[in-house]
Amino acid sequence: MTSPIWHPFTQHALQPDMTRVERAEGAYLFTNDGRRIVDAISSWWVVTHGHCHPALVDAAREQGGKLDQVIFAGHTHEPAERLGEALIKLAPDGLDKVFYSDSGSTAVEVALKMALGYWHHMGETRRQRIVVMENGYHGDTIGTMSVGERGVFNKPYAPLLFDVDVIPFPHPGKESETTHTFERLLAEHPGEIAALIVEPLVLGAGGMLMYKADVLKDLKRICEAHDVVFIADEVMTGWGRTGTLFACEQAGIAPDILCTSKGLTGGFLPLAATLCQQRFFDAHYSPDRSRMFFHSSSYTANPIACAVAFANTELWRTEPVQARVDALTVEQARQIKKFDGHPRFENLRQCGTIAALDVKVADQGYLSNIAPRLYQYFQDHGLLLRPLGNTVYVLPPYSITSEDLDDLYHVLSNAPDVLGL
Ligand code: PLP
Repeated sequence: MTSPIWHPFTQHALQPDMTRVERAEGAYLFTNDGRRIVDAISSWWVVTHGHCHPALVDAAREQGGKLDQVIFAGHTHEPAERLGEALIKLAPDGLDKVFYSDSGSTAVEVALKMALGYWHHMGETRRQRIVVMENGYHGDTIGTMSVGERGVFNKPYAPLLFDVDVIPFPHPGKESETTHTFERLLAEHPGEIAALIVEPLVLGAGGMLMYKADVLKDLKRICEAHDVVFIADEVMTGWGRTGTLFACEQAGIAPDILCTSKGLTGGFLPLAATLCQQRFFDAHYSPDRSRMFFHSSSYTANPIACAVAFANTELWRTEPVQARVDALTVEQARQIKKFDGHPRFENLRQCGTIAALDVKVADQGYLSNIAPRLYQYFQDHGLLLRPLGNTVYVLPPYSITSEDLDDLYHVLSNAPDVLGL
């Protein structure tokens, strides 16, 4: 019998069979046909400490027997409160309030609504424009597609997407084009720009494109000068991926609104949080019920997810997680250096625990035919790597070993010859 399941980002006509995973541990997935696969993309960038970390398993078990779920409007619970306090302590300065939701996309939707709601309630109703960065990705809901790069992914839905202003990606040496475009937009639309949303340091789905922390600092400075809300989408970059707990730290900035998900629970359960400054809360605070923040999802602040996320924050406090991140950062630098001068690869890049490089081919872009061929080749070698077009990136859990990375990069270096690319 064929499966009733429709898989995400999967062309079933070309990939009829799915890899059936039975269990996972550390950096490994174990399949029903007895294979061990190295999860070198942290199962879509979520798993940080490794799969099934015992502390997270225990937290889920314990909370599940106590309070499974409760409506979060008018109700609260210890896991959400404890986690909220921990997040405020860990996050960049000035973020005072935590709004829970359940995915990276909803964290971003909430951030956009907070910013727009803020200006609306402050009486600055002309501030409705959102500025985004070229090649950005913030999710697949209608709102997050609107603030992301337009292309093959969202072409059929274009009539539903709202207009945004785009600043160019800050390619090395061309950073000033990004900041100048932003300043030009501000001059052209005085008092109309509500917010800027960016992925700090690394644009993930856009191709693991990396840019300098100084750009982030400059963008924040410009936002401050023009009263524009600075939203940092740290959904992918948070929880150590770029070498620090949050990527913004490397620019020495604190965003006005910060979105986090993925590694928030160590990659164990779906949960998201949008952290904001007090002023966003205050703008909605009123005896007037029409000013409340109109956003919720059924599972907002699910107690089990919150308990696991709190256990994750405890791991960061009590285990040498930062030392593991630092060691992986050094290891990734060592590995990627091996490709220096390699005739078949280019654009070697690394930011903290993330490394990426491009296979030199004529057929580039997300729909490049080499991506599925590379994917299958890696699967055949016991590796879960999911190239973005001709870009191969390695974004592993922090528990991956040097030996696994040695093997992985060896398999990768042979790929162009074996596949005849
Ligand atoms: N924002 C960024 C930067 C992301 O990388 C992603 C997902 O990859 C999202 C938002 C959307 O997250 P989710 O898939 O959990 O909705």
